[in-house]
Amino acid sequence: MITIKSPREIELLRIAGNVVYKTHKYLEPMIKEGITTAELNRLGEEFIRKQGCTPSFKGCEGYPYAICMSVNSEVVHGFPSNYKLKNGDIITLDIGACWKGYHGDSAWTYAVGEVDDEKKFLMEHTKESLFKGLEQVKPGQRIGDIGHAVEEYALAHNLGVVKELCGHGVGTEVHEDPEVLNYGPGGTGPKIKEGMVIAVEPMLTAGNPDIYLHDNDWTVDTIDGRPSAHYEHTVVVTKDGYEILTGELKKNG
Ligand code: MG
Ligand code: MG
Repeated sequence: MITIKSPREIELLRIAGNVVYKTHKYLEPMIKEGITTAELNRLGEEFIRKQGCTPSFKGCEGYPYAICMSVNSEVVHGFPSNYKLKNGDIITLDIGACWKGYHGDSAWTYAVGEVDDEKKFLMEHTKESLFKGLEQVKPGQRIGDIGHAVEEYALAHNLGVVKELCGHGVGTEVHEDPEVLNYGPGGTGPKIKEGMVIAVEPMLTAGNPDIYLHDNDWTVDTIDGRPSAHYEHTVVVTKDGYEILTGELKKNG
């Protein structure tokens, strides 16, 4: 069921989303050669809790950590570990925070030091594909228009679209209806309405988008071992577009 959020709920979602944003900004300068992903996870969890929130993903369907840390070819749900980041890696931090029962969800891919041209290209155009998808978020459009725009942009840049994973509604659950696919025909799916809150999150690959699951039953990786990037914002549909909830707080909402 797709729910329309009240102004009071949107205010709580805005606070949760802002904590997610601030956690990204807190961790970003620490994403450097030599730090372990476990340390980043520890610092991120501590920061989320200091803001009075709980990490949305810890315990979500059994996921054991606060933050998902996916390195290089890992697409999503990488486990924080003793792996030390190296110059030339890319890492996606997928962060969720819950404030008074309402969630925010945002993933971002970061470069560690200097990365090669393939990774630079992948990051730049995966980020752009998120905003191409978001351009479709306004009343009158349909959910399928988002995925159509993402896929069209990805394919125009020879990037692979991971189809097994998708965006989603956000509210009192971190994953709610509707599913927001990153592919498919436009003009399909539920109508986008003011007050809907969704996470748009393209996951693109530099090579073939086929994936496999690690033995830990969580981490999703590309079969060909080529890199993957992932950018995600939680947004609320407004009268004529959208407001990013996992960005900086706007003075007048
Ligand atoms: Mg996420
Ligand atoms: Mg998400």
